[in-house]
Amino acid sequence: MPEIAKAYEASEVEQKWYRFWMEQGYFTPKIDHKKKPFVIIMPPPNVTGELHLGHALTATLEDIMVRWHRMKGEPTLWLPGVDHAGIATQVVVEQKLAKEGVDRHALGREKFVERVWEWVSQSRQSITYQHQRLGASCDWTRERFTLDEGPCLAVRTAFVRLYNKGLIYRGERIINWCPRCQTAISDLEVQHKDITGNLYYLRYPLAEGDGFVTVATTRPETYLGDTAVAVNPEDGRFKGLIGQKVALPIIGRVIPIIADSAVDTAFGTGAVKITPAHDPVDFEISERQGLAVINILNPDATMNEQAGPYAGLDRFACRERVLADFEKAGLLEKIEPHSHSVGHCDRCQTTIEPEVSQQWFVRVVPLAEVAIKAVDEGRIAIIPERFTKVYLNWMENIRDWCISRQLWWGHRIPVWYCNKCGKPTVSVDEPSTCSHCGWADIVQDADVLDTWFSSALWPHSTLGWPEDTDDLDYFYPTSVMETGYDILFFWVARMIMMGLEDTGDIPFDTVYLHGLIRDEKGEKMSKMRGNVLSPTDAIGEYGTDALRFGVTTGTSPGNDINLGRHRLEAGRNFANKLWNAARFVFGSLEAEPIEGQALAELTAERPEALEDRWVLSRLRRLVLEVDRLMRDYQFGEAERQIHDFFWGEFCDWYIEMAKIRLSQPTSSPLPVLAVVLETTLRLLHPFMPFITEELWQGLKQRLPEGSLDSTSIMIAPYPVADAKAIDPEAEQVMDSVIEIIRCIRNARAEHKVAAGKWIEARVYADNLRLAIASQSQAIETLAKARPLAVLSRDQRQAEGEKALVMVLKEAEVVLPWAGMVDLEAERQRLEREIGASEAEIARLGERLKDAAFVSKAPAEVVDKERGKLQACKDKFKRLRQELTQLS
Ligand SMILES: [Zn+2]
Ligand SMILES: [Zn+2]
Repeated sequence: MPEIAKAYEASEVEQKWYRFWMEQGYFTPKIDHKKKPFVIIMPPPNVTGELHLGHALTATLEDIMVRWHRMKGEPTLWLPGVDHAGIATQVVVEQKLAKEGVDRHALGREKFVERVWEWVSQSRQSITYQHQRLGASCDWTRERFTLDEGPCLAVRTAFVRLYNKGLIYRGERIINWCPRCQTAISDLEVQHKDITGNLYYLRYPLAEGDGFVTVATTRPETYLGDTAVAVNPEDGRFKGLIGQKVALPIIGRVIPIIADSAVDTAFGTGAVKITPAHDPVDFEISERQGLAVINILNPDATMNEQAGPYAGLDRFACRERVLADFEKAGLLEKIEPHSHSVGHCDRCQTTIEPEVSQQWFVRVVPLAEVAIKAVDEGRIAIIPERFTKVYLNWMENIRDWCISRQLWWGHRIPVWYCNKCGKPTVSVDEPSTCSHCGWADIVQDADVLDTWFSSALWPHSTLGWPEDTDDLDYFYPTSVMETGYDILFFWVARMIMMGLEDTGDIPFDTVYLHGLIRDEKGEKMSKMRGNVLSPTDAIGEYGTDALRFGVTTGTSPGNDINLGRHRLEAGRNFANKLWNAARFVFGSLEAEPIEGQALAELTAERPEALEDRWVLSRLRRLVLEVDRLMRDYQFGEAERQIHDFFWGEFCDWYIEMAKIRLSQPTSSPLPVLAVVLETTLRLLHPFMPFITEELWQGLKQRLPEGSLDSTSIMIAPYPVADAKAIDPEAEQVMDSVIEIIRCIRNARAEHKVAAGKWIEARVYADNLRLAIASQSQAIETLAKARPLAVLSRDQRQAEGEKALVMVLKEAEVVLPWAGMVDLEAERQRLEREIGASEAEIARLGERLKDAAFVSKAPAEVVDKERGKLQACKDKFKRLRQELTQLS
């Protein structure tokens, strides 16, 4: 039999078992129409490279669910994939090329895309490898990339269907424009930063007669695109001005003063400039009011010919010039400091320009209505539940979705324009002629689709839609969509809309949202702060199971996680604890192998020894509780309870008691040791898959042939328990025995009794006396208490003996001072401590009498002082009592 190593070597064990699982094909489910499958489609990480801790959390949570369901015997599919991540990838490759001194325009579209593919294939391998290091038990035979043939067909099909239904249109709308990337970007790709800028008050002279209207703006250069000034119709200050006109300074364009109830009377002067081409609210007003829309910018954010004398200037240089010219003309009324939020491109940090632009849009309201209904009717549950309201609120206020991007990397828009009639041909397959006039000279739209368009189809496109595949038939709708709460709208909501639209069915029945990982102080992790911890480094240092334990234990859905190194250390310590406990059991089994039937008998009959009954009862309670928590998606709590049982009850108490029995010819604790270890390993497997497999296989080798008939823990059944098998009587007695041992240990520690010294103890009890007495040996050994007597309470005499008396729930413990300490020295020690307590009580009392302190200090500080005073008084009382007992 291979000997078990002294210490756990995570990296060797992990690679060995991952390879074994792959070779055995455990990750690929068998389609069984008699069983309902459990399915998770993995949120595809961006192909841009290294995984971060958020990915590790995603992979761990999904693997927990997947391994749990697989062990419950359900056909389980976890489908992995990678996202081509349009703009993110394009920018990374552009930056790479820039280092070589190459510009993508010089390279040309085709060559550039080739370079991206080269880079993508390396990056994909690294992502797969990192997921495998994390222990992810996903079905690699079904791995998908958003640019694979299947997902591409799905994208074109979905586009054409929506277009034919009138749900996709091309039009002019306000979008977020990045002047550096020179593309529209989604709201998600805009980072809002609070900027301390200025609010500029500009005077627009009336076109006729004297006077002017003052408007306030943070972007004075946009006045060049103004097509109206608006006031609120309820605002008495401007009643007479509505219907008049102003002339824009310098360029002289005459624009009307209009009334619109969208105007906020509290902003600036109450009269606002309307720049429809560069502000979303203004654009809406312009649509309502029929105003002209004047775009003043070139794609690179220099001013275009609409800017008259400012044409050709960069937008910020133009701002300075405009301000100087207004000032010269006496039209700059005042400048106020003003902090406001400014959008920046997530990829390149350039200031975003809201800009009207000709783009493709999805008309989302009809799609949203169906998606709202699915959640409203409870067909899709969102966990934690509080996000349901957030989802519904967003969906009810949803705006049309801009899906075209001026990029080269992504799904080309399946639209071809005719060079004769100009009309678009929208087609799944590449057409050879115009569908309107039959002309052969047609050109495909140069744009690609927003990455989120293909992501929105992910649950059904990965399973084969639009083809009618076996996978789609069996695995769709999927079970759980697990992802971060930060992409609820951008992704989850859109998957619900598109899934329902394309397949007529929900894409998943449960949405599980996890929180964000922050550093131990609760700060966001970022390269700039230097507090980033990479999963690969963490795995190298602590082991995968420790990392998985660290990111999930004690966490709950939707809440952020502060991940300090102490959490990873706790994970590693737990792995070592498992290892050492198993080594003890293995060693004992090697010394004294258990017989063939011993394990089977154990499940059939109730063991005699109280601690056996107790630990099995506690284990069953744990199994029931874990089942309840897992069903309730409280994985972090389930894991915490398994940890606490294993460490706090099995290792600290049961194994310690078993050691006493192993040295004696009484009934052997080995079958129970084996059963509890084996069951706990299976309970823990979804959370810490590697060490549990290693130890389970080690245990299997040391048990009688056929005791464990599965070839791997990952396909062994998940533990179940019967509530009827709980043994409350054994639990009550053992609780009491543990309490007695603890209280003697505490007394020894407090009175500084040498570790090797035996002290006399008497335990008085009523109902539980005989049961406690049966555990005398354990109490003696574990509390180092000898002689020990367990007596009934009526034998307790109020003799004048000097002893420490402790009253517990079910028993009273009496420790004669003489057997424990040097009486005189202890008396002096107690007196000293009483003196110190008195002084502290006096000090705190004075402080709390001080009216100035009590009224001025924060309430929690005062409360803390009151708590300290109470604790001091309690201690004082106890010390006095002990002194009386001593005298
Ligand atoms: Zn950018
Ligand atoms: Zn045509």
